[in-house]
Amino acid sequence: MGAVVEKKAINLRIPGPTPVPPHVLEAMSRPMINHRGPQFAQMIAELTEKLKEFFQTKNDVVILTAAGTGAMEAAVVNTLSPGDKVLAVSIGAFGDRFAEIAEVFGADVVRLDFPPGQAADPEAIGEKLATTSGIKALLVTHNETSTGVTNDLAAISRVARQFNVLILADAISSIGAIDLPVDEWGIDVMVTASQKGWMVPPGLAMASVSPKAWEAHRVAKMPRYYWDFSKAMSYLARGQTPWTPAVSVFFAFMEALKSMNKEGLANIIARHKRVGQYTRAGIRALGLELFADEKHASDTVTAVKVPPGVASKELLKRMREEHGVVLSGGQLQLANVIFRIGHLGHVTEADIDGVLNALKVVLPQMGFQG
Ligand SMILES: *Cc1c(COP(=O)(O)O)cnc(C)c1O
Repeated sequence: MGAVVEKKAINLRIPGPTPVPPHVLEAMSRPMINHRGPQFAQMIAELTEKLKEFFQTKNDVVILTAAGTGAMEAAVVNTLSPGDKVLAVSIGAFGDRFAEIAEVFGADVVRLDFPPGQAADPEAIGEKLATTSGIKALLVTHNETSTGVTNDLAAISRVARQFNVLILADAISSIGAIDLPVDEWGIDVMVTASQKGWMVPPGLAMASVSPKAWEAHRVAKMPRYYWDFSKAMSYLARGQTPWTPAVSVFFAFMEALKSMNKEGLANIIARHKRVGQYTRAGIRALGLELFADEKHASDTVTAVKVPPGVASKELLKRMREEHGVVLSGGQLQLANVIFRIGHLGHVTEADIDGVLNALKVVLPQMGFQG
């Protein structure tokens, strides 16, 4: 009791939740409104239309109160039936998750895995589609947050479209930060979530749904209730959601989109490209090695190899406790192999300088000389 807790500014450099600008945080504290009243109706209509611009799509967009994984589940259960054959392309933990969701709901999942740190090979995907009969959908991750790799989704979708399969894409940590023109690339269901590139707290997930996905939806028999896209659309027509939405996160999202509008999508994408390159160059200058294949390194998250002799848990602890820099470890089997730096949403080179400067102090203390 009575102890003075010193509050240092935290440099939150994980790939979500990402830092939220003050004016967006402030919007979260507004009084509640009736989620079935005119003010909410206006807000959801506006937010839905604005999101379409950032998704570069004319497809329908539904906003779900959920984590990103909820939207991944929604993408699967709204378009598929038990027994449907799907090709799940995985380059890491989130690709595996997409495959698992489809398996849980009874899809016949054909897997195509690539080694961690590598991107999926579009040609290999084409070959798999050509040699496996009856594949109805392709599940693919755009930006694999667990390894810091961005798939060439344009090339992958070009191949997949030749086989007329539905393309369900997890773009949770990319869209709004890395270019992903949904219509041009023919993505049937694209999912994302508020706490990644959008500078908004967790709580909302969004999905775009193409006419082809709606066709599939009409005959899709996987069980669904909360995630039903038809329910979401019929309520959206009245300016509502079927279930009580995360109203405060809607307030925040409206505010964040004002900033994003002002900066403009092209500038936002360019900034992430710049900051991504800056991060990788800075890491290399410290004598550290990057985990991801350089040609496919992500502009929203950088995976760094933990140098020999350094314990990653201790490294992250010192960064956090002594420098206020919060980084992510590796997931599952990559726990002691990599650490990850998030640079999506509200981020500039100055935030990365904070990370690099702290690493410069901590690494030699841990015996790494570069
Ligand atoms: C963060 C993330 C998810 C999971 O999102 P949750 O909101 O934690 O459910 C899925 N896929 C990718 C690529 C992600 O970055």
